[in-house]
Amino acid sequence: MFWTGLKKYFSNDLAVDLGTANTLVSAKERGIILNEPSVVAVKRDFVRGRQSSVLAVGREAKDMLGRTPGSIVAVRPIKDGVIADFEVTEAMLKYFINKSTKGHSSLIKPRIIICVPYGITQVEKKAVQESALSAGAREVYLVEEPMAAAVGAGLPITDPTGNMVVDIGGGTTGVAVISLGGIVFCKSIKCGGDKFDESIVSYVRKTFNLLIGERTAEKIKLNVGNAFPFEQEKSMEISGRDLVMGCPKQITITSEQVREALSDALDNVVEAVQDALEKTPPELASDIVDNGIVITGGGALLNNIDVLLRNKTGLPVSIAEDPLSCVVKGAEKMLGNIDLLKAVKVG
Ligand code: ADP
Ligand code: MG
Repeated sequence: MFWTGLKKYFSNDLAVDLGTANTLVSAKERGIILNEPSVVAVKRDFVRGRQSSVLAVGREAKDMLGRTPGSIVAVRPIKDGVIADFEVTEAMLKYFINKSTKGHSSLIKPRIIICVPYGITQVEKKAVQESALSAGAREVYLVEEPMAAAVGAGLPITDPTGNMVVDIGGGTTGVAVISLGGIVFCKSIKCGGDKFDESIVSYVRKTFNLLIGERTAEKIKLNVGNAFPFEQEKSMEISGRDLVMGCPKQITITSEQVREALSDALDNVVEAVQDALEKTPPELASDIVDNGIVITGGGALLNNIDVLLRNKTGLPVSIAEDPLSCVVKGAEKMLGNIDLLKAVKVG
C-alpha cells in the first residue's frame, strides 16, 4: 500500500519522440501525455544567434506558420532529420519536457529516453542530451527512431530474424533492417510527408496557376491523396491565389492529380526500400520475404501506400497499428525494460 502510494512519485520517467513534424511524450504507466508539432515561433534576432525570447512552441507555433509578421518566424528545428538549429531545438525540448513534468511532482528527477533521427552526429547527440539534462533529466538515453519504431510496431527485434521497418515521417523516410537488437542496415532519405506537401504545392502552381500554402497541400493529401488508385477516386475544392490575375480562385483537384503530383516523391520512397532490400545480407533478406515489411510514421496513413509498396516489391506489407505513435510507444516499452534499452541505446 505504502509502496503503491509512493510509486507515483518515483515513476516519472519519460519517453520522447523528437520527430521532424511531431514531438510525442509518453510517461511510464501513463501513456502518451503530449503530442504537439515540432515547431517553435521565435523572434528573428534569435535566429541570427542573438538572444531573444521564444514566443510559442508546439501547436500554438504551428498555427503561426506562414502567417507571421516580419519580425517573427515559425521554425521547424529538425525539419530534414538533422538538428539545424541547436538553440531552438534545445528550447523546444525543454519546453516539452517541462510541460510533461508539470503538476506531476516527483521526489527524484526523471530518466528520459529520447528518440533521435538515425545517424545524427556526436555533436547533435550531445546537444540533445545536454538540453534534456538542463530541462531536469536525471539520466538521458538516446535511441534511434527506426529501432523504437520497430519495437512500437511490435516486431520481435531481439530475435535472430530479419525485420524491415519503413518509417515515413515528415522530413525523412527511414528504412531499417533489424535483427538481434541491432540495426543491420539503415537508409534514411530526406523525403517524407513534407516533400509530399511541397510536391502538391508545385503541381497546383504548374497545372492551375494557383498558389496554395503547404498547410492546404497537407489537407489535400489527407483528404483525397493516395499512393495507388482508389476504386472510387475522390476530389475536393481548394482555394488559393491566381498567379495570373492575382485574385483568389477556386479549383477542383482529384486523387489522380494528387498521385501525379506525388509520383516522384513516392518513387524515391520505393527506391529506398528496394535499395535496402538489395543491400540486406541474403539470410535476412529471406526472412523479410517471410515476415514482410511494416510501415510506421504519419506517411503510413497516406491511402494505399501499403498497396504501392506491395506492388513494387512483391513482399507482404502491413501498416503498424497507430503508426504516428509507434516510436514513442516503442521508447515507452524500453522504459520498462532496461535490458532492452541497454541493448539498443546509442548514447
Ligand atoms: P515525424 O516523425 O518526422 O515527426 P510523423 O511520423 O509525425 O513525422 O508524420 C508526420 C507526417 O505524416 C506529416 O507529413 C503529415 O502530413 C503526415 N500524415 C499524417 N496523417 C496523414 C494521413 N492521414 N495521410 C497522409 N499523411 C499523413
Ligand atoms: Mg518519427
